Amino acid sequence: MSECLFCKIGSGQIPAKIVLQDDEILAFEDVNPQAPVHVLVIPKRHMEGLSDTKPGDKAFLGHLFEAAIRVAEKKGITDSGYRVVANQGRNGGQTVFHLHLHVLGGRQMTWPPG
Ligand code: 5GP
Ligand code: ZN
Repeated sequence: MSECLFCKIGSGQIPAKIVLQDDEILAFEDVNPQAPVHVLVIPKRHMEGLSDTKPGDKAFLGHLFEAAIRVAEKKGITDSGYRVVANQGRNGGQTVFHLHLHVLGGRQMTWPPG
């Protein structure tokens, strides 16, 4: 059994507020939201991060991004705008080592990010 937190959320072992899902991906509310809308999009199969994907994962990565776009629509932030972020590795600020996209919106984002 995997010890990975997001694998456990993906398999339903740990509860989360689900926004949408299909066979491959799950989108759920971040437990510590950094914006009025803060949803995480994960693959259900484990991979550590962006750098753990292979050239053969092109379609899958498109699927993950497309899910982020659908999340934004479902949350009603398409017109106001939003940010999609993937933190990769130590300097990227990644804290959970199961690939995820952050979908952030509902307020003005600042640039550059911290
Ligand atoms: P990272 O820093 O790796 O890019 O993002 C990890 C995100 O996972 C953080 O925004 C954090 O709030 C969120 N998170 C950590 N543990 C849990 C949890 O148990 N449930 C949910 N829903 N989100 C979590
Ligand atoms: Zn995992």
